[in-house]
Amino acid sequence: MASSTKIGTVLGIPIRVHITLWIFLPLIASHISSVLGFTSLFWGLLGAIGLFTSVALHELGHSYVAIRKGCSVREILLVPFGGIAKMQHLPSRPRDEALIAAAGPAVSLMLALVFHLLSRFIGAAGLYALAVTIYVLSAINLMLALFNLLPSFPMDGGRIFRAWMTPKLGRLEATRRAAKIGQTIAIVFGVWAVFGGRFNLSLLAIAIFIYMAAGSEYRAVQLQESFKYRPFGVWGGGVPREPEGNVIVGPAPYEQTSSASSPRNDDDDLFDELWRRWR
Ligand code: ZN
Repeated sequence: MASSTKIGTVLGIPIRVHITLWIFLPLIASHISSVLGFTSLFWGLLGAIGLFTSVALHELGHSYVAIRKGCSVREILLVPFGGIAKMQHLPSRPRDEALIAAAGPAVSLMLALVFHLLSRFIGAAGLYALAVTIYVLSAINLMLALFNLLPSFPMDGGRIFRAWMTPKLGRLEATRRAAKIGQTIAIVFGVWAVFGGRFNLSLLAIAIFIYMAAGSEYRAVQLQESFKYRPFGVWGGGVPREPEGNVIVGPAPYEQTSSASSPRNDDDDLFDELWRRWR
């Protein structure tokens, strides 16, 4: 039995929904309904669909830049805790890695702004329930962008941070520092989840996830550097890894299955200049 269903194709990339998401969707919908303060599941379901559409657009942001940088994206998989863009032929230059990583949070920020304006407009038109639902989607996208910008693995910010530090420190040391920051953030989250007033199970789960993923990203790069060879690529947020080399992560960034240097694009010289200044 297939573990995921294809729901469409965007930019030539199949978008698939993992079977567990279909199971969790009613739960997520009822949770969003209660957050919204509505008894009807309809608004929660609309919110859940909006949430996963937002996640898919975030991953498409990564994918669009990745394709422009000469990568290929095999598929985008939506899972209950996020999305995964499965990439091949990743760029070897840190600057390209940073651009691909930044594209996801950039899309989420844009969505936050669009939803915010839309909710005001719809609210002014008197459609209260719809306006509140869209307002919550705006907040979720803002959180998605900010959370992913934490300078730590497995978030996008960890990749941007590593790309920034790699020319100065080397890839391994840059990864080690990003992983250390990730584990420190995880410990703060964990302590807050347990002792910060009300016990927060989902925050604790996120803390444990970040801690493990940060460590595994470092070990993966350590292995890579020791072999100077990338059997299946370890760019994408770490383990757990399926036999064929797929990474299942969340709050999921994106993943690679192999790597190669990318061809140069027309806009590369401009980016090179900007990148030099930025660094
Ligand atoms: Zn991302």
